[in-house]
Amino acid sequence: MASRVQSDARGPVERVEPSPERWVRVRGVVSPSSFHARRSSDSARTELLESIVVACGRVERPVVVFDLDGTLLDNRPRVTRIFHELAEFWSIRHPDAAEKCARVRDEHIVYGVIDNLVRAGIDDEALHREGLQFWRDRFFYDAYIRYDVEVPGARSFVRACFEAGASIVYLTGRDLPNMALGTLASLRDLDFPIGVVGTSLVLKPAFEVADSEFKNAVAPSISRIGNVVASFDNEPANCNLFLDHHPEARSVLLDTHHAPNPPPLDDRAAVIDSFLRHG
Ligand SMILES: [Mg+2]
Repeated sequence: MASRVQSDARGPVERVEPSPERWVRVRGVVSPSSFHARRSSDSARTELLESIVVACGRVERPVVVFDLDGTLLDNRPRVTRIFHELAEFWSIRHPDAAEKCARVRDEHIVYGVIDNLVRAGIDDEALHREGLQFWRDRFFYDAYIRYDVEVPGARSFVRACFEAGASIVYLTGRDLPNMALGTLASLRDLDFPIGVVGTSLVLKPAFEVADSEFKNAVAPSISRIGNVVASFDNEPANCNLFLDHHPEARSVLLDTHHAPNPPPLDDRAAVIDSFLRHG
């Protein structure tokens, strides 16, 4: 079967070989990055983010659009939790693999599920298939979303945009039937603005819809709310499509992780690795 990778909220559905791009250390995690060379310096990132906050105070009916997974939220603790449950599940039948899963920590997690099993020291392909199914049965459901944490600086930056007058749109590849309630609770508990006037949570109508297809269809309609000042996403394809629909807005790639074999990133997009703003 040809290698097929679902979009980022789904994560990879089968083994993905590491891309040839250089591997970089992202907050303690070694990850492949195609865009490391384009990352803004700390001062340039701070300047970019502050300029967006300022624009939110000046533009009429400003809107800022944020992806969730890999952009505002770090899913690695959700994956780690599932690996620890897998350890319990395998404890009798596969004690060696179970012990390896139990040792997984957030900082070990990379994009591909099977990559993570291999990195844990599990090479049996039958266990890969079983582990992948175990992960799929949990990762995309409300109950597990509460393990996510914010990408550094994310909450503070979203709040700064909101308080400067922007409407906030969370535009995510998570699906409405299975992930809406967990997502609302997660954003609330992490203290992002949600559930108040000036915020929208926009989810896919069904799991099967491809993320970029969904975002491409939805992006033009954001003009109903106002004028897009900036959009943030960890997938280059999504950054590019926002520039197609809203060329006047800043498009910013979060260089945390992305699906393998990404398209070239539009030259107009900025690249940052966190939302931290230093003085
Ligand atoms: Mg994402």
